[in-house]
Amino acid sequence: MPTALITGVTGQDGAYLAQFLLGKGYRVLGLLRRSASSDVIGERLRWLGILDRVELLDGNMSDLGSLIRILQKHEPDEVYNLAAQSFVASSWQQPLLTGMVTGLGAVNMLEAVRTAAPRARFYQASSSEMFGKIQEPRQNERTPFYPRSPYAAAKLYAHWMTVNYRESFSLHASSGILFNHESPLRGIEFVTRKITDGVARIKLGLACELRLGNLEARRDWGHARDYVRAMWLMLQQPAPDDYVVATGRSTSVGEFCRIAFAHAGLDHREFVRVDPALFRPAEVDVLRGDAAKAESVLGWQPESSLEELAAEMVEADLARHRRLRETS
Ligand code: NDP
Ligand code: GDP
Repeated sequence: MPTALITGVTGQDGAYLAQFLLGKGYRVLGLLRRSASSDVIGERLRWLGILDRVELLDGNMSDLGSLIRILQKHEPDEVYNLAAQSFVASSWQQPLLTGMVTGLGAVNMLEAVRTAAPRARFYQASSSEMFGKIQEPRQNERTPFYPRSPYAAAKLYAHWMTVNYRESFSLHASSGILFNHESPLRGIEFVTRKITDGVARIKLGLACELRLGNLEARRDWGHARDYVRAMWLMLQQPAPDDYVVATGRSTSVGEFCRIAFAHAGLDHREFVRVDPALFRPAEVDVLRGDAAKAESVLGWQPESSLEELAAEMVEADLARHRRLRETS
């Protein structure tokens, strides 16, 4: 039975990846940072029904010793580094912490792998935010980067360190440059989930408007369940490499609103208000990925459409608010 270690296992992708790997017969270990909210921290794993099947290990991306000890003890075959301060807007409020966890945290794990488990295959969660102010209309593995936030700059450092550890120390280290991917387990501060949660509140009479920032921004949104499959596929290749993972379809925030509200039988124009306070100091105006390499080398393709994704998220938020209403 192969063993995988997932950092960020309590996050959206960590939870879906754990479910995917359990389904493939893996023993799944997850790094858990100590928190006073330990009763709710495993909520996503519980939602997927796998909380008791993932072995949670005490550690932190900022504590190299904890990472080395975990690798020495458990000798995982695969290490998926998903932990990060992952919210772009917060990265302007906490640029140093973002640098330490999202950037240096990844290097801590690379060091731990190099020291304690050099034969383990390593996955780094890189991001389309690294393309930032885009240099080509469709971004692929050869497109130059232009990060536009402390988050993106930290991810770029982690990305290049992954490439460097691969080339310098012959680690099987791959980097997935994933475009935005969402699900009912997406953090509520991200725009798609904020929208589907808003739709549910409005539909159930719990709110009368939804305040958003830049409705013109465009993203290439996919489903997290499809994207964790690509992570695994990367580590099954004989040689490590970097891959863009995307749908190739770019949609504006306003258009996502239209789709999500329409699923609940509502007209978004009646409820969405633009709040200038929610605009960012620097914006990534548009992202659209070209995943031709992932398709040809990994045989990967997305399975969910944006409409299916939005419908699943709206339904999950409606069900959640109905449950909360019944129990309160
Ligand atoms: P989430 O924000 O949902 O999850 C982040 C995870 O990192 C959580 O488990 C969190 O733990 C953990 N974490 C944060 N700080 C530390 C720390 N100091 N030590 C240990 N663990 C820590 O992110 P996603 O699941 O959406 O994304 C997974 C990865 O992929 C991230 O690195 C993200 O930046 C990257 N990515 C995501 C994209 C997306 O669209 N979702 C696109 C491209 C890249 P806790 O639960 O305790 O907060
Ligand atoms: P990001 O691409 O990782 O920054 O993912 P987000 O979901 O946080 O943001 C996607 C886009 O939506 C960005 O261009 C934001 O400026 C835009 N956006 C517009 N209104 C909001 C909002 O209220 N919250 C968030 N999070 N983003 C918003």
